Amino acid sequence: MVTPSSLPSLLPPFAAIVVAAGKGLRVGGETPKQFRMLRGKPLVRWSVEALSHAGADLLVVVIAPDAEAEAATALAGIAGLQLVTGGATRQDSVRAGLEALAMFAPERVLIHDAARPDLPRDVIARLLAALDNVRGAIPALPVVDSIAIADAAERMAGKAARETLRRVQTPQAFRFADILAAHRSWRGAPDAGDDAQVLMASGGSVTLIQGDERLRKITFAEDFADMSAAPAFRIGQGYDVHRLEAGEELWLGGVLIPHDKGLAGHSDADVALHAITDAVLGAVGEGDIGTHFPPSDPQWRGARSGRFLEHAVSLARAAGYAIANVDLTLICEAPKIGPHRPAMRAEVARLMAVGEDAVSIKATTTEKLGFTGRGEGIAAQAIVLVTRAS
Ligand code: MG
Repeated sequence: MVTPSSLPSLLPPFAAIVVAAGKGLRVGGETPKQFRMLRGKPLVRWSVEALSHAGADLLVVVIAPDAEAEAATALAGIAGLQLVTGGATRQDSVRAGLEALAMFAPERVLIHDAARPDLPRDVIARLLAALDNVRGAIPALPVVDSIAIADAAERMAGKAARETLRRVQTPQAFRFADILAAHRSWRGAPDAGDDAQVLMASGGSVTLIQGDERLRKITFAEDFADMSAAPAFRIGQGYDVHRLEAGEELWLGGVLIPHDKGLAGHSDADVALHAITDAVLGAVGEGDIGTHFPPSDPQWRGARSGRFLEHAVSLARAAGYAIANVDLTLICEAPKIGPHRPAMRAEVARLMAVGEDAVSIKATTTEKLGFTGRGEGIAAQAIVLVTRAS
């Protein structure tokens, strides 16, 4: 089977045109969407860099007539790039890009929309490989939803068989001479369709190759918000120590454990829950347990630490994250943790509102070394992964 990693690392030479001439106002705001920031870069820069890194030796970005300064800033430092002024329609803009490349007569060209920032290298490789045998190749995906045909009043007028339908993406790949000739001879409406249709109108055939969901197009403001939001994963760690003293209750992981000593502290001193709470707060950059529950505040005297953890989880949720998993290590000579692990695991899962399979509780001694080895205290460390809630 051909997997992405087994594709040859060297692609055949190709030219690329990125169309970034639209007004892109459906996303809202003053700046056309191709120049708006997405994950720290202007939108258009993502796909131009992807094409450059994949080895495009001629790279044209087609822009609106008044966008030169914006485009130069957005694409600063990318070698071998040519900015070309586009026309009133997408067809005109692609034609302008092709004409700018004509004097170099490249063999293959990829034509891409700037609104699709995530351009996997294996899609580029599949398209270029297909051009060995055909004049045009485009990425396409199956339709998984059923399809309704709507009338003008937005009533269902019929159904279409989704088995024969495909969602078409860009980049679209062509033998350069064929797509240039097809555009030059195009007599259809200026905004009639994509480059594959232009090639077909001139008698060329177009092969569908496997597309990629990552190539999704940014169209609406909410797409932009989704894709520019905080990272999909964040991670946090927490560490805590409390003293063991006679006459105290021993709370660990939200469970009362019979033992000749207990942990001393302002709250119930549950070192396990404190470490997990700090890990959750750390994952979402919300300070530490002392920020939210200062020991100087009398209302937390003797408080059950489960409240701290529940609060931290609610802050993570408010920041748009769900708990993926937690891994806790308790460090002590005694008591033995094993017999209490199932109860602690169940309680931590309940407090964090996750399944028990998302909670790991481990324990170790320090071979009688140090304060934990001498039984003076218990230490705990925790790590928590959070994922962006969709
Ligand atoms: Mg503590």
